[in-house]
Amino acid sequence: MTNLDPKQWITEEHEGCGSAFSLRIARKLEEKQSPFQKVEMYETTDFGNFMLIDGCTMVSTRENFLYHEMIAHPALYSHPCPKDVVIIGGGDCGTLREVLKHDSVTSATQIDIDQVVTEMAEKYFPELCESNNDPRATIKFDDGIKFMADAAPESTDIIIVDSTDPVGPGEGLFNHAFYKNCLKALRPGGILVQQSDSPLLHLALLCEMRDAMTEVGFADLQTLNFPQMIYPSGWWSCTMARKEVAFDGFRQDDADAASFDTEYYNSEIHQAAMATPNFVKKAFKK
Ligand code: SAM
Repeated sequence: MTNLDPKQWITEEHEGCGSAFSLRIARKLEEKQSPFQKVEMYETTDFGNFMLIDGCTMVSTRENFLYHEMIAHPALYSHPCPKDVVIIGGGDCGTLREVLKHDSVTSATQIDIDQVVTEMAEKYFPELCESNNDPRATIKFDDGIKFMADAAPESTDIIIVDSTDPVGPGEGLFNHAFYKNCLKALRPGGILVQQSDSPLLHLALLCEMRDAMTEVGFADLQTLNFPQMIYPSGWWSCTMARKEVAFDGFRQDDADAASFDTEYYNSEIHQAAMATPNFVKKAFKK
């Protein structure tokens, strides 16, 4: 058990990793037990508001741009003209906001299983919810596993899985059956992108995800690395999988000429994020 004063610090201990992460808190704002998970909100001394789900760090005001920009923009710029986007999870609405910055997007449908997460986000992260009323946005509360199973074939260009880890309601978002349904729902050239945990601490899971995506028939994969300090190890990733065609670079000129603002993402970061460390390369080859 950590010896930080729980009145002053909120700590997530990373089961099986021998590590933990803490933020200093000013006060607890709210806690709600939904039918699916426990959602806690804190005000921190230095990171703004802070959300945990079932004790796992999710979002803070200060650093969430790293994750939301990197799970959205590389996939969108790797597609020639993304129009329809599906977001599975993403209940804090930060990913939806990034997706809707792209003028080519004509529909963005977010399906999170837990309405409590979005209610808390609207209260404590209003800046992440600023695009929720965009006419192109549809926000649903349902199981993403079921949504993808029922999705019409070749009905979308991009699927973003911005979910919790493969535990609890998120478990079924990391297996062959789910990936098969994503492949079916994507148009040719379409891209699935999923948060794929820490290459340093969760390399086995990352490899399992990539193997399953390949085994169900995705033509090409790209894992992107980026910093995410509130998640275990602070080194995070997302993995893109493409239907029928290989990744062939990205729309660098469009990224450079973007009419919208980002805090982290740009074309150099995009390029750099695709670089793979040697120990990860070796694991991918196994
Ligand atoms: N950025 C965070 C991360 O990487 O851990 C995730 C953000 S978001 C808060 C994660 C969301 O996944 C939660 O709102 C949770 O309700 C949602 N989720 C988990 N399982 C789900 C499922 N089967 N269908 C839809 N949403 C799900």
